[in-house]
Amino acid sequence: MAIVMKFGGTSVADAPAFENAARIVAAQRDASPVVVVSAMGGVTDGLLAATTKASEGNVDQAIASLVDLFARHHAVANELLSAGDAEQFATQVKSASNQIGALLQNIARESSQRKSIQDEVVSFGERLSSSLLAGVLRHRGVDARQVDARRCIITNEDYTSAAPLMPQTSLQTRAELPPVLESGVLPVLGGFIAASTTGRTTTLGRGGSDYTAALLGAALNVNEIQIWTDVTGVLTADPRVVPEAQTVDRLSYSEAAELAYFGAKVLHPKTIQPAIEESIPVRICNSRSPEANGTLVGPETETSPRTVKAIAHKTGVTTVQVTSARMLGAYGFLRALFEVFERHRTVVDVVTTSEVSVSLSLDDASGLPSIVEELEDLGTVRVEKGRAIICVVGEGLRGTPGIAAKVFSTISDINVTLISQGASSINFTFAIEEERVKEAVKRLHHEFFGRQKAQTT
Ligand code: ADP
Ligand code: ASP
Ligand code: MG
Repeated sequence: MAIVMKFGGTSVADAPAFENAARIVAAQRDASPVVVVSAMGGVTDGLLAATTKASEGNVDQAIASLVDLFARHHAVANELLSAGDAEQFATQVKSASNQIGALLQNIARESSQRKSIQDEVVSFGERLSSSLLAGVLRHRGVDARQVDARRCIITNEDYTSAAPLMPQTSLQTRAELPPVLESGVLPVLGGFIAASTTGRTTTLGRGGSDYTAALLGAALNVNEIQIWTDVTGVLTADPRVVPEAQTVDRLSYSEAAELAYFGAKVLHPKTIQPAIEESIPVRICNSRSPEANGTLVGPETETSPRTVKAIAHKTGVTTVQVTSARMLGAYGFLRALFEVFERHRTVVDVVTTSEVSVSLSLDDASGLPSIVEELEDLGTVRVEKGRAIICVVGEGLRGTPGIAAKVFSTISDINVTLISQGASSINFTFAIEEERVKEAVKRLHHEFFGRQKAQTT
């Protein structure tokens, strides 16, 4: 049985990073790795910025902005590929650049096709990085071959955040990859990119390479899914806010899923689901210190009562409160309310209800004006933008009293709304104003992990 090893953008940002990733893969050659790789660090952002420029009518500027990005690919190829592979790769980059140029012209003309053209443009990031990594591995003597992920991951046509169609994805993956593995060749696939049933390029949403790794891992029922990134596993809080955050050795699937969903960027929110279905362990490792164990996510975890494992947070959240006396004792009210969000294809994250009001949070508030208009038929609507959600997670919180009291006393001067203890009772989630989120996370981390001085900046 195989394993999946996924390398994120920072793990393939430049030639030394590629070389390091190839070394990590080669060390596990005996475990039959299937390698998944993101675009080189910053490349997806660069390609997206070009599509935005082009759709604003600045096509020449958009094309010019990509020169450096292609140069970075050439630099890696010239340093790390065999002469033959480097020559072939140069042809591939030339062709990518021509195709992207034509797509950017199209995007300026056909705004209705914008999302599908955008997916086609950004897909070149992963198509090129996977070709490069396969070449770098070959140059190290590993028989590796690029496999187009669009032959394996099949999705609906929700461009820019397509949903995988599981039966087709499993079938395709099982048809494509085992023959490669059985012939002793190591497949390297670009993450994030996929194809619709009609063969058009789609993507799984930002950060989606983790999800690709999990989908392939589940389809092949591998022994382990490894996510190689720039930090040593899942940390007790976002290290950009709490530099002292520590690695969590083990997490249950539910803990990891809650953390990912509520902002721990280290894992794409959908990564855990395919792993749960086949009970596959997910390990998050640091490509800069490969000897460290990182975090192991699996069906079981160490729990002790009252133990908080980690704190996640996300900003840019909007909360909506609908108040109506009609709710009292009435049936059908909640359905009518949620149907509004469904009609506008808007995902609702946290929900709390009282006798006469419902409060909920949204990540994507783009459909809000029309949503509010419809909600006003149901009651009085209050919208608050610029909110943040904090989520305190731990299996040990299940049925443990006192956690809320500890949270509230730690941040007693900050107004907390939308308080929810998830159905699984392993998380305690609430909203606060965005400006105070860093301060709140630092203080909570200090309270629960005691490793840093509370700061109130
Ligand atoms: P990759 O390019 O490897 O996919 P990402 O940038 O998507 O890497 O995810 C890793 C980053 O996630 C880390 O560098 C860190 O800044 C951020 N992060 C946020 N919350 C956490 C957390 N709880 N644990 C670890 N990393 C976190
Ligand atoms: N390259 C994509 C992104 O930057 C996917 C990924 O890295 O996971 O969002
Ligand atoms: Mg990522």
